[in-house]
Amino acid sequence: MGSVWEETDEWGPEKVLQVYDPDTSMKGVLVIDNTSTGPGKGGIRFAEGATPLEVFKLARTMTWKCAAAGLPFGGAKGGIIADPNKVDRVAWVKSFAKMIKPYCPGQYIAATDIGTTELDMAIFAHEIGDMRACTGKPSELGGIPHELGTTGYGVTTALETALEVLLELNAIRIIRDNIKVSIQGFGNVGSFTAKFLDSSGIKVVAISDISGLVYNKDGLNIPRLMMDMKGKSMLSDLDGYTILNKNQIFEIDSDIFVPAAMGNVIVDETVTKILDHGVKIVVEAANLPTTKKADEYLNSNGVWVIPDFLANAGGVIGSFVESQGRTEKEAFDLIKYKISKNIKNILTQAIINGENPRVLALELSKQLVYRAMLLRKGAISVAREAYSRKDAISV
Ligand code: NAD
Repeated sequence: MGSVWEETDEWGPEKVLQVYDPDTSMKGVLVIDNTSTGPGKGGIRFAEGATPLEVFKLARTMTWKCAAAGLPFGGAKGGIIADPNKVDRVAWVKSFAKMIKPYCPGQYIAATDIGTTELDMAIFAHEIGDMRACTGKPSELGGIPHELGTTGYGVTTALETALEVLLELNAIRIIRDNIKVSIQGFGNVGSFTAKFLDSSGIKVVAISDISGLVYNKDGLNIPRLMMDMKGKSMLSDLDGYTILNKNQIFEIDSDIFVPAAMGNVIVDETVTKILDHGVKIVVEAANLPTTKKADEYLNSNGVWVIPDFLANAGGVIGSFVESQGRTEKEAFDLIKYKISKNIKNILTQAIINGENPRVLALELSKQLVYRAMLLRKGAISVAREAYSRKDAISV
């Protein structure tokens, strides 16, 4: 397994903290990648397999995501290393908060991620003693919880905008009225993406989770599925549904594939399967779902991949609105505005210049962060010159 030291470069990470509390046995990691554009922003992942290297990679994604969205945040990420259902989660979240308190909210502002919810954010903020220490808090604490579906709403906006641009510029052969989407993951992001797509009249034909897969070639009844899931934790708990193997998600005939579960799922073995099953667009709702090699393979085979740091920015844009003390409605409006503007600009440039959208978007995020780093050093005139393509993304 690689180490974070091997990953250091001109962007960061500025701090990597490994913490351990002998009272609770809590082990945690905080990576603050780059704070030139503001305090590092990123969720706390509460998962057994979280490693410092993984947390660093997620923190780096946040650096590019916040820059692309034009938010006054840098990139960071937290990790609590355990299955939250197997430990005293309240004690562990408190313990993590206590250990990283000196950095919150000056250098790190937390949020939810896999394994954490708005309740954990309430515990975290109270333990730090500052409501600005995290976003995604319950509405009673002035929060805009991710449980409202901000990320899924942003993913839906990204998907619809990508379709619109690709069709308008004849970059794809697809029948708009008969689009089929398959989604991997039915947690916060996957379920809200399904819900918002369905409300927009876009057919979701398959959804998988850790326990299995549900499928209907004519489109799943999403409101019914969401109702049937009430009080259940996974798809295999459903009564009256045929549950298929979760790995069949890569073998579903569909036009658009939305990975909304874990990282590293579109890899050598799966990339050919999704291509063979007609996928023309991948919208990355999960963080880091596609390996570099698989991304290049998809790109060279005419599949449009909308990168995670553009597609799943809804949560962090909502977080920004929360940090400003503004309303849920303003959060949803800003998500729509920023994500549709970014996707439109990046995809249009990518189509016209024959570039990979991820490479193009990354270059633009880098320019923004580079300029902020120069400004931090006081090099204003150099920074202005270095920053030539500022209209390309939301600032
Ligand atoms: P979650 O814990 O609510 O849901 C994860 C889902 O993935 C669950 O349905 C789980 O059963 C499923 N899953 C796990 N392993 C699987 C497997 N091997 N095959 C199929 N399904 C599997 O998490 P979430 O908050 O929905 O986050 C999902 C992804 O989106 C993560 O990559 C996360 O980093 C990213 N993300 C989340 C947010 C947010 O606001 N929650 C924001 C940006 C990005």
